[in-house]
Amino acid sequence: MVENRKTSILVIYTGGTIGMVQDQETGALKPFRFDNILQEVPELKKFGFNLSSYAFNPPLDSSNINPEAWVRIAAIIEQNYDNFNGFIVLHGTDTMAYSASALSFMLENLAKPVIFTGSQLPIGSLRTDAKENLISSLEIAAALKGGEPVVPEVGIFFENRLYRGTRTTKNNTEDFNAFVSGNYPALAESGVHIRYNYSAIRYDNKKLPLIVHKELNSNLIILKLFPGISRNMVESVFQLQGLRAVIMETFGAGNAPDQEWFITCVKEALGRGILIMNVTQCNTGSVEMGLYETSRLLSEAGVIGGRDITTEAAVTKLMYLTAVSNDNNWIAKHLAISLRGEMTD
Ligand code: ASP
Repeated sequence: MVENRKTSILVIYTGGTIGMVQDQETGALKPFRFDNILQEVPELKKFGFNLSSYAFNPPLDSSNINPEAWVRIAAIIEQNYDNFNGFIVLHGTDTMAYSASALSFMLENLAKPVIFTGSQLPIGSLRTDAKENLISSLEIAAALKGGEPVVPEVGIFFENRLYRGTRTTKNNTEDFNAFVSGNYPALAESGVHIRYNYSAIRYDNKKLPLIVHKELNSNLIILKLFPGISRNMVESVFQLQGLRAVIMETFGAGNAPDQEWFITCVKEALGRGILIMNVTQCNTGSVEMGLYETSRLLSEAGVIGGRDITTEAAVTKLMYLTAVSNDNNWIAKHLAISLRGEMTD
């Protein structure tokens, strides 16, 4: 049974649609003051939690979220880690999967819930999905079993599912169900009850002290392949000044053109110490280098297979690893293993 004792939750409001209310006079959507959260959502009082909040000022549309914002969120969690049982991050949906992935890598040995949520409609609008998302996220962040948090990891709660942060992608701009986790089951589903998928939740590491990594290296790029991509464009990308890593979004199970110019370009970049990670353009399934001739050559050249990692997790994992070390062998070794449940071992 999941016990819900009186508990303390910190709500970190970064911005996004969720935090908007309709101005009584103009009808326009505007951010509301988060210290008034209990006024906006009086239902929250029923929890009986100690609820504290921290609001970004100004709130950010999540298209403006960047590594500095992630460092800010991580620092707030670090400063308040011992005083709260769990954390809610209210965030725009557009880049939520990147942020949840980034925080997963930044918060090593996390042993408390960090639940990202947001909404497709503002909290002040009549048909809003915000209240339900917020209320269920709070319940999840507070849930204990045997005195320990039920979900000691970074998750995204949306509509009726809790997904692992590093496994999630936004795939719908219209439905309330905005996210998918194509390669990993939901950690929880909410219906009449919140049903936890205990075997999918990570319970390792919880005895080690939290380590917060605040350095991220964003000198990387996503190169999405398409039929007809030109030599000139590919060469230009690999020649970018300061480039440290390329996330190459390939076709199907990790396939790319096998024309000589393309492979030469890849080899030349690898020779200059640029890391290249192969991730698939598909939402579900895995990169399997060597399955086809068109990926065997990449593998032989030294491209690192990302298996079933999402692009969002690949980007943030590389940002994290390339900031921790300059040693390509060490980085390649850590790219090939799951650090925060981001890929299937
Ligand atoms: N543009 C908004 C954002 O990501 C959309 C949302 O919140 O859903 O901040």
